Amino acid sequence: MSKVFSIEEFATFDGPGIRMTVFLKGCPLDCVWCHNPEGKSPLTEYVRSPNGCLKCGACERAGIKTADGVKLTADSVNACPRNLVRKCGIDYSPRELTDKIMKNAAVLNLNGGGVTFSGGEPLFDTDFLCECIKLLKGKVHVAVQTSGFAPEKNFQRVLELADYFLYDLKIMNPSDHKKYCGADNALILNNYRTLAKSKVPFVTRIPLIPTVTDTVENLTAIASFVKENNVNYVETLPYNKLAGSKYALVLKEYHPGFDESRPVNTGEKLFASMGVTARKM
Ligand code: SF4
Ligand code: SF4
Repeated sequence: MSKVFSIEEFATFDGPGIRMTVFLKGCPLDCVWCHNPEGKSPLTEYVRSPNGCLKCGACERAGIKTADGVKLTADSVNACPRNLVRKCGIDYSPRELTDKIMKNAAVLNLNGGGVTFSGGEPLFDTDFLCECIKLLKGKVHVAVQTSGFAPEKNFQRVLELADYFLYDLKIMNPSDHKKYCGADNALILNNYRTLAKSKVPFVTRIPLIPTVTDTVENLTAIASFVKENNVNYVETLPYNKLAGSKYALVLKEYHPGFDESRPVNTGEKLFASMGVTARKM
């Protein structure tokens, strides 16, 4: 069993063609700009939508107090007069999840698309991911959208099964990576080298976070690194200023600790000068 916090049907940015994207709960990283805060914990959570909230506090009173504040519970769902509280994290077995995916397989295949496992971090529960891919193998194209932060042996297992990877590179300096993402990047860089040496197709994706990942120094280091690995195409994902709005779901405030208002540097010229084509998504 693993927990799914969202399923997006007919996604167009998560790999080739039209895709069904499955967001699995649980991520070992803790990026300050994470735009899926409800996907970080591997546990079921109860979240509330701020739209239409009366601020009556009934959901919190039905919740439980924790060191960090209040955690909503199943009782909070019943306590809300506006039905704004919901369960986030539905249990699926590999068979249940892949049966659901296979219902869309014909349409996905028609468009040269498939399914993309995202998160959270889909390699967080590698056994579950591998079981799902084995059940889908040869029936529908399977992509994995990953931070690459996983033990080498787990990455290798998924590499042997998946058809395609969307692989994030965020910060090249290990201590900055630790500062902004909660762990250093040694595993990520190592798994990237393994991926680049394999014959499995993949795309490198770079989130452009103002003053954090979009600095000349960091983008230059990323360009050098991908070139070293014989990669000459990357996709950049400009920072979404609405990212913080989801923190209200999990009763947290968004304090990313960088200047959100500064326009991002897309680095296109910089990449081009180093022989790497960068496409803004
Ligand atoms: S989410 Fe519902 S119960 Fe909670 S404060 Fe808003 S209206 Fe009240
Ligand atoms: S790797 Fe992705 S899901 Fe995990 S904390 Fe970072 S941005 Fe969020």
